Amino acid sequence: MKNDYRNTIYWVSKKNIVSEKDALEKKIKAEHSRTKIIYNQINKKDSVYNKLFRNIYSDKCSYCGITTDVVSSELFEIDHFLCESSFNGDSINAGKIKNLVLSCKKCNRAKKDFIWDEVYSSKFNVDDGSITELFYRDKNYYIKVENKFITDKTICEFYRKLKLDEEIRRLDFLLMNMYGFSKKHSSDRISEKISKYIVLLQQKRNEL
Ligand SMILES: [Zn+2]
Repeated sequence: MKNDYRNTIYWVSKKNIVSEKDALEKKIKAEHSRTKIIYNQINKKDSVYNKLFRNIYSDKCSYCGITTDVVSSELFEIDHFLCESSFNGDSINAGKIKNLVLSCKKCNRAKKDFIWDEVYSSKFNVDDGSITELFYRDKNYYIKVENKFITDKTICEFYRKLKLDEEIRRLDFLLMNMYGFSKKHSSDRISEKISKYIVLLQQKRNEL
């Protein structure tokens, strides 16, 4: 698989999100046999299931890849991948774990009730990494649509709707790289220097 636009070179990508989610759903059902809507259990702030769900995603946004290094963990939300309104009131199916993903607030709010044709669900799949076939990170840290999809209206709409084209995505990626570098070289003097710049840049970012 090609480079994942959501990850810096310092990020160790993980394991199988899909199977870990399945296992968590089984656990919830076993421990709360009367629970119909899995979403309600996972969405409970500070609940053990909420923590386990976040762990599966390594506290990282499924859409843009931002981590809790850069934005507070409070700014992460449980997103319905296919928006609730497309389930015609069927909250049980909408709230199944396979339809839930971890998203930063920015992406979740931007995505809102975006609906796409069914054929696109597998293309936008964030859990198996299919989404990384659609977009890439260029050398200036911009997220871009792959050339072969540039005329695809739905993919371009998704890209704009989620604001993947915004400048702040570059700043966030720069910060993620700086944090990654600083952690990797934590015993070096250079890391001390970098840390000062991280603090400054992070302050500026938070003011935006
Ligand atoms: Zn995001």
